[in-house]
Amino acid sequence: MSRILIVEDEVAIADLEKDYLELSGFEVEIENDGRRGLDRALKEDFDLYILDLMLPEVDGFEICRQIRENKNTPILMVSAKKDDIDKIRGLGLGADDYVTKPFSPSELVARVKAHLARYERLISSNAPENDIVEIRGIRIDKTARRVWVNGEEKQFTTKEFDLLTFLAENPNHVFTKEELFREIWDMESIGDIATVTVHIKKIREKIEMNTNKPQYIETIWGVGYRFKL
Ligand code: CA
Repeated sequence: MSRILIVEDEVAIADLEKDYLELSGFEVEIENDGRRGLDRALKEDFDLYILDLMLPEVDGFEICRQIRENKNTPILMVSAKKDDIDKIRGLGLGADDYVTKPFSPSELVARVKAHLARYERLISSNAPENDIVEIRGIRIDKTARRVWVNGEEKQFTTKEFDLLTFLAENPNHVFTKEELFREIWDMESIGDIATVTVHIKKIREKIEMNTNKPQYIETIWGVGYRFKL
């Protein structure tokens, strides 16, 4: 649920805004003076701020400026005077929207929703994407360490996962068992190249339709293995 902070000294207006926003499913907090409002805006995490311009202690200009120095959260400025809105724009304080009093509460709600939706899209487009390797129906999510074969998730042990990923990331390249052992198991590992054979067998059981006729990991007799492109 999105949390909204309203900083507004006119209690009736603040309550009206709160009622409408709560009816739309938002969680709303109110502060009636600028000092408290600024304090909470900086210390707590809200998803959107609605700031009145003329406030006791600290005005809306200053609150907007300080929030913007610290956060990208959407800010909606509310003012009684059209002139003030031009002033906010002119100051380039980084407010996202401006509403003049009197305004219709449903219009305020619509604007809040639009800004939250836009901000969510912005955040999700900046989120780092998982590192994915995809070859012919096999999808390996390296970040989440998960594997899907034709859409069905399969469970792999750590080494099986590492070996499959290494081969899939270097398709069409023949590796000897020694090379694979060195690559996947560190030098101090107990074991030998037979371990590689065992792991390849396990991987094939999970990814191949017919383990006797592997379509993904081929055995190159006398040499090693190759992930078919
Ligand atoms: Ca005011």
